[in-house]
Amino acid sequence: MLLSTLQTPRALSRLSLVPPSTLTRHPHAFTSRASLNDQTLSQTQTQTLTSPPPSQILSIRRSLLSGRASAADLALSSLTRLRLAEPRLRSFLHLPDDDAVLVHARHLDALIAAGHDPGPLAGVLVAVKDNICTADMPSTAGSLILDGYLPPFDATAVKRVRELGGIVVGKTNMDEFGMGSTTEASAFQVTANPWDESRVPGGSSGGSAAAVSARQCAVSLGSDTGGSVRQPASFCGVVGLKPTYGRVSRFGLMAYASSLDAIGCFGSSVADTGILLHAIAGHDRFDATSSKQDVPNFQSHFVSVSSLESKPLKGLRVGLIRETIDDGVDAGVISAIRAAALHFEELGCSVNEVSLPSFSLGLPAYYILAVSESSSNLSRYDGIRYGNQVYADELDSLYGGSRAGGFGSEVKMRILMGTYALSAGYYDAYYKRAQQVRTIIRNSFKEALNQNDILISPAAPSAAYKIGEKKNDPLAMYAGDIMTVNVNLAGLPALVLPCGFVEGGPAGLPVGLQMIGAAFNEGELLRVGHIFEQTLENCRFVPPNVVDDIN
Ligand code: GLN
Repeated sequence: MLLSTLQTPRALSRLSLVPPSTLTRHPHAFTSRASLNDQTLSQTQTQTLTSPPPSQILSIRRSLLSGRASAADLALSSLTRLRLAEPRLRSFLHLPDDDAVLVHARHLDALIAAGHDPGPLAGVLVAVKDNICTADMPSTAGSLILDGYLPPFDATAVKRVRELGGIVVGKTNMDEFGMGSTTEASAFQVTANPWDESRVPGGSSGGSAAAVSARQCAVSLGSDTGGSVRQPASFCGVVGLKPTYGRVSRFGLMAYASSLDAIGCFGSSVADTGILLHAIAGHDRFDATSSKQDVPNFQSHFVSVSSLESKPLKGLRVGLIRETIDDGVDAGVISAIRAAALHFEELGCSVNEVSLPSFSLGLPAYYILAVSESSSNLSRYDGIRYGNQVYADELDSLYGGSRAGGFGSEVKMRILMGTYALSAGYYDAYYKRAQQVRTIIRNSFKEALNQNDILISPAAPSAAYKIGEKKNDPLAMYAGDIMTVNVNLAGLPALVLPCGFVEGGPAGLPVGLQMIGAAFNEGELLRVGHIFEQTLENCRFVPPNVVDDIN
């Protein structure tokens, strides 16, 4: 069985993490590691604490094509695992009937039996954030105003996943309309972090990150306006990829801030996020901002680790953003990022600190622009054009009542702030100024990326914090977005992957490393990220209560 049901105590001990304090580094030991393409089922028995994360997508494909497993059996065992973990984690807002999933799986089995290629995502269970439209499941964006809404179409990204054989296994919990960093702003439930259920999974795509972390699905889709894929990836110890603005169609993504929004990918390995991105990327005639740039086959960027020389990244110029390892960032996070920088050096890179003086301006500029755009985007939810309607005698009370009852407090606050920033007397002081700052930020990234091939930083200033800890302090919550918002303002791609641990929870808490690249250069981020991940010693990013027996 490829995906087992939930853990047994024996399996738990097999995969318990090395405590952070006992970690050691063996810079050249990676030459002995198995290549991505060499991984076979027999590795299940030989998996060690330090084995690199395998690609779940490739393993599922190998199992199906070799006849070792059927898509129906795989789907059933995955669903069992998903449902067992769900009452504790609450990652999902909607789950399909098992029968609906099995219909898709059996169709794939029939294609294979008839000698057809079932597609690169065949049999892969994909969870989808609830602000991405699905025609067969409700899509609420975590909001009461859309409670029960069933879109008449699939978002382009979802359509492409299905066309390539992926099976949509449910809609994941999120902060309402993407506004938040914890899932606590969801109108329906708070998701727990699989590493420590008393902590938040991050947000706003917390459900998608937790589901991958707990192996409730193989990969998932999220959205990232100011960090909502990267910060939860960091909190949950999974890989999160935010593509270049325009790389993936936004058709069917419910708009938060249209000039910043991007659909992104979660996986338990860099390879999986790259394969998923390849599936969903590319021009779409339904989104005029989607790019016509070619989408390379990212899989060709994943070099077999056994064939690596001792300095596989020789010559790569890595810039560590000085302002991100400064005051206000947890000491444990800084040490993990410094250790990651050392690892880059071991791999042959030159690592230098680089200063982006405009970095701290990102947060105020982002919050002005994001709330301004959202106040405009959310005006469509008035109970008539979109959104649930309350009964009222007059039109004004119908609009007002529908919005008052439908939106949560965080969304209302942002609509008010955005309306204020856009109002005639204040437009120049806030919105226009924020746009000017955005240009400065864009240019400073451009310059830094002329001198460096990639930039690195933490993905968040701390590891996952406790549920409720920042709920009543919005400014503290917004400050947590400092590492990610600049990247959206500059429209650049960024990959977050787990790189170490800090103390906390039963097994330590994962820390994410953010790698930022030039526009449309996701291929380089994935190549470098894959080598980094496959050579990182003594770190196994599987939460303590979860069995990862996928090979
Ligand atoms: N936490 C940020 C916000 O609340 C980012 C959210 C996102 O990327 N959707 O705006």
